[in-house]
Amino acid sequence: MKLYPLLLEPVLKDYIWGGRNLETVFGRSLPQDTNIAESWEIAAHPDGQSVVANGDFAGLTLTELHQKLGLDLIGSRSRWAQERDKFPLLIKLLDANRALSVQVHPRDEYALEHEGNELGKTEMWVILDAEPDAAVIFGVKEGTTPEAFREAIAAGDLEQYLHYVPVTAGDFIDVPAGTLHAILGGILIAEIQQNSNTTYRVYDWNRVGNDGQPRPLHVEKALDVINFAQVEPTAGEEVVISAENDLLRTELVSNTYFTVERFTFDAGGTFSGNCDGSTFEIWGTIDGETTLTGGDITIDLPRIRFTLLPAGMGAFEISADQPAVMLRAYVAAQ
Ligand code: ZN
Repeated sequence: MKLYPLLLEPVLKDYIWGGRNLETVFGRSLPQDTNIAESWEIAAHPDGQSVVANGDFAGLTLTELHQKLGLDLIGSRSRWAQERDKFPLLIKLLDANRALSVQVHPRDEYALEHEGNELGKTEMWVILDAEPDAAVIFGVKEGTTPEAFREAIAAGDLEQYLHYVPVTAGDFIDVPAGTLHAILGGILIAEIQQNSNTTYRVYDWNRVGNDGQPRPLHVEKALDVINFAQVEPTAGEEVVISAENDLLRTELVSNTYFTVERFTFDAGGTFSGNCDGSTFEIWGTIDGETTLTGGDITIDLPRIRFTLLPAGMGAFEISADQPAVMLRAYVAAQ
């Protein structure tokens, strides 16, 4: 069976903090009269399934395709995920028109014990666009103890323990499971995360959900999983992998679940890769426009478009006629 670069139809989520910025900033057409918070670009989760939009597999959900292809889709390094019947990653675009809740996600072991077959959630964000004073909440302030934090939740004065980090376009933030965090208003983000939808909210800004009721908080579970040793962390610093005439390649984040690299192409830049069966690869253009050829087809990747390359696809080639920036996510050898 010929494998090829997959384009997927995203799943849109209208959570209360969303807006219209995917359309106004990036030109993505959205349904009328709704605010869109998240666009799940590559998703195989019970809460959202993206559907293959091109080629022989068109019309299949990503979960159906995974069931059909198994390790030919996800690769031998993700055998653990195969055993748990999971596609390993979830790729989203977020329009934080307003602040998200202050929240934390569990590690794998805690999620498995408390949330059925759900995975933990380690995530990372690349800031695509940000208003001038934009910031995120990331980790706790020096001196925060679990006891003091618990009391502050009850008293409604958590602010003193929250650590703020200013962000601008191009910054990235590494958010391992257990990190206290909130994306605040005025930020557009590409998020690469484990395939999980488990969030423990500790504070939701005293607002109500779409149904007029306060959204649930999960204080006890949050206190179980918050890493209070993560004191005043900073935005990530990329590491150069290679710097050639027409391509700068850097590593942003690398952990057990995913490695994320950033490719900055000059006009005419190219990159040759190979999906040799060990891992799927996800590529997305976040600035400019690129083309990708593999499995006998060529696809265009305009800004904020992602593609999933099956692990067994073989060789591929990327080219950028004009300057462009891409993200690459895959599972690295341990
Ligand atoms: Zn999160």
